[in-house]
Amino acid sequence: MASGKLIVFSAPSGSGKTTIVKHLLSETNLPLDFSISAASRSPREGEVHGKDYYFLSADDFRSKVAEDAFLEWEEVYKDNFYGTLKSEITRIWKEGKHVIFDIDVVGGLNIKKQFPKETLAVFVQPPSIEEMERRLRGRATETEEKIKMRVAKAAQEIDFSEKFDTILINDDLSLAKEDATQLVRSFLES
Ligand code: 5GP
Repeated sequence: MASGKLIVFSAPSGSGKTTIVKHLLSETNLPLDFSISAASRSPREGEVHGKDYYFLSADDFRSKVAEDAFLEWEEVYKDNFYGTLKSEITRIWKEGKHVIFDIDVVGGLNIKKQFPKETLAVFVQPPSIEEMERRLRGRATETEEKIKMRVAKAAQEIDFSEKFDTILINDDLSLAKEDATQLVRSFLES
């Protein structure tokens, strides 16, 4: 099987990791492609099936679990399942590209554990919990209850940051984008 590298970006929701991952995919010439996760939540406005996620019903998600189709999967929030399909990795490696992931902290460490040499695991750290909460509110896509749930989870996730290969502080977004590009470039060249 063709093989390449795996670049994991993990962080609490609202840390800016999705923006950084999108930057790496569209504004650099790095040979990367995005691992499209399966998710059982409903699409947000503007999200496209087969581009942002493969949106599945909870039942379809469970069938894929039973088929052993996932490299890793989790109930990230209650009744919201997310997972990395094994077929995404083979699809992208076959294209001759490296895989980039936007996944939660536990999923990111799980991939690092399964592919220790091939993986660069980056933890994106928001400047503070307060700033992260402000960003989540600014996004205005979530109910108050969901914002609270995401903020509570973020505090736990930050405790995992030392287990990552590197921590990228997202204080100033343009600097964080440059740092991320450098990090990934040197890992791919190593
Ligand atoms: P959101 O609902 O904001 O798109 O994602 C919620 C959380 O689930 C984020 O931290 C996101 O990175 C994570 N996530 C997305 N895809 C996956 C996946 O395939 N596996 C795991 N473990 N987490 C994921």
